Amino acid sequence: CSAQDTCSSDSCPEPVKMSVNERTFIAVKPDGVHRGLVGKIIARFEERGYKLVALKQLTASKGHLEVHYQDLKEKPFFPGLIDYMASGPIVAMVWQGLDVVKQGRVMLGATNPLASAPGTIRGDFAIQTGRNICHGSDSVDSANREIAHWFKPDEINDYASPFINSWVYE
Ligand code: ADP
Repeated sequence: CSAQDTCSSDSCPEPVKMSVNERTFIAVKPDGVHRGLVGKIIARFEERGYKLVALKQLTASKGHLEVHYQDLKEKPFFPGLIDYMASGPIVAMVWQGLDVVKQGRVMLGATNPLASAPGTIRGDFAIQTGRNICHGSDSVDSANREIAHWFKPDEINDYASPFINSWVYE
């Protein structure tokens, strides 16, 4: 294969297939849902060429959110973060594609929206860190943990997408 980073052929070796099939957990937080930004956020990932493989809306329990944000439990903003995230519906998604964990973070922008470049989701739609409208996994390991925390295996859809395979990847 001469285009190993982007090859999506079934005959490619496993590490190459894995990169095209990388998955990340993206969530529209309650402020993003209330502000009617769900469609715009989905559109950005779709238009980029990533593949949506799971999506649901739910109001998460505090216990569920405390596990999701377990690495931040010592932070002073932790109780407020849990209250905010439990205050309304969340749109939880799994997106798939080449380098989607890293690129998803780039598309979201910095944690603090005021430090986020225009063109990023937070840079275009948010002002304060405590209302930054979206979540994205920060590493492949976090993505795997978060996907398993938010979705049952049968809620994730493995489907062939010949259009994406032919026209998004070489
Ligand atoms: P990210 O969501 O960009 O991965 P972190 O994992 O550091 O950022 O923080 C998780 C979430 O906690 C942030 O998205 C934001 O909603 C909230 N948060 C982080 N820092 C602060 C802060 N200083 N004040 C209020 N909320 C914060």
